[in-house]
Amino acid sequence: MKINDVDFETYLKNYPTKDGYFGKYGGSFISDDLKKAFKEINDAYLTICKSAKFISELRRIRKEFQGRPTPLYHCERLSQSVGSGKVQIYLKREDLNHTGAHKLNHCMGEGLLAKYLGKKKIIAETGAGQHGVALATAAAYFGLECEIHMGIVDVRKQAPNVARMKVLGAKVIEVTDGEGTLKEAVDSAFISYSKQYKDAIYCIGSVVGPHPFPMIVRDFQSVVGIEAREQFLEMTGELPDVITACVGGGSNSAGLFIPFLNDPVKIVGVEAFGKGKDANSASITYGSEGVLHGFNSIMLKDEKGNPGLAYSIASGLDYPSVGPEHAFLYDIGRISYEGITDEEAIDAFFKLSRLEGIIPALESSHAVAYAIKLAGQMDHGSILVNLSGRGDKDLDYVIEKYGKKYIM
Ligand SMILES: *Cc1c(COP(=O)(O)O)cnc(C)c1O
Repeated sequence: MKINDVDFETYLKNYPTKDGYFGKYGGSFISDDLKKAFKEINDAYLTICKSAKFISELRRIRKEFQGRPTPLYHCERLSQSVGSGKVQIYLKREDLNHTGAHKLNHCMGEGLLAKYLGKKKIIAETGAGQHGVALATAAAYFGLECEIHMGIVDVRKQAPNVARMKVLGAKVIEVTDGEGTLKEAVDSAFISYSKQYKDAIYCIGSVVGPHPFPMIVRDFQSVVGIEAREQFLEMTGELPDVITACVGGGSNSAGLFIPFLNDPVKIVGVEAFGKGKDANSASITYGSEGVLHGFNSIMLKDEKGNPGLAYSIASGLDYPSVGPEHAFLYDIGRISYEGITDEEAIDAFFKLSRLEGIIPALESSHAVAYAIKLAGQMDHGSILVNLSGRGDKDLDYVIEKYGKKYIM
């Protein structure tokens, strides 16, 4: 399949380019010191990703430690309850991956890469703490030191995740500069890494950041779409009509989407519309081109053109930019992006819990909500949703805020 001169049959060979570009998006806007360090990671990755030993070791870890392949599940009761009742909704169960979300898919890959590079330590930042927990898990598995930079405001808000990281043996560095949130944590982690890159590796939490991370994380997450495509064909004998996933930085969605790019399948990313136009994290819908955290993409901006504040009820979605590959695939028209509000996500959270016995993460609830909305507008067909994570982490908040409305 070809769109606007982009040939999807050979897509993975050509995107990103050697310098990390997807069209005009991506690249590497960082200091020379960091460039040198990231080039080492890039070169090692390009060698290792073709090594039979690396691939078979990663396959073993995925099976024995992570519990892959995760199941594909047909939501019969949910499907019957929507619109004509004839549109079939399926879930790729990443919530059943060890630690309860898709993030471990790339963290275990990054950990194995660190091992092959002979590094002793993993350095990263975290916002809500989900990436920090997944990485601390990988570090424990591989016997690596783990240093997680986290804004002081986030440390206070996300106490359970801070506790998890510490139990797993990670060192949590509280960043007090500026606003004390993710942006400062990224700066702090970059600085720490540039001082010790001979012994350490930097690991990013989504398909964002400077080259080669959008490529590496995409490749490690692609296991989701490769499995789901095979499982869907086996279960139904066909490909799905529509596939969808929530988009924060864009890793779980890229993981599902990329293996379907060359198929006659409609692909929809779901951004968080939050409370509407004035408080959301819909970078593609409301943003414009700009550089943030070392890469060029489509980002939210304030009136002065500085990075805007992102908001969503789902802390994993409130990132003010998006992976460069999403910006590119949106520009050329291969993927479309829709928005789901906080309220719609909460509704889907309870629907899936009560009709199927699956409590989804608030992030994933956005994708479920979109599938429900779309199913209501179709006569027949099938929709495959990436259920990126489980909702246990969100229960306290949901009960406190929405208990009165939904629970008798
Ligand atoms: C972090 C997270 C997300 C958002 O990140 P992406 O990189 O966009 O996938 C989505 N769902 C869950 C469960 C998460 O933990």
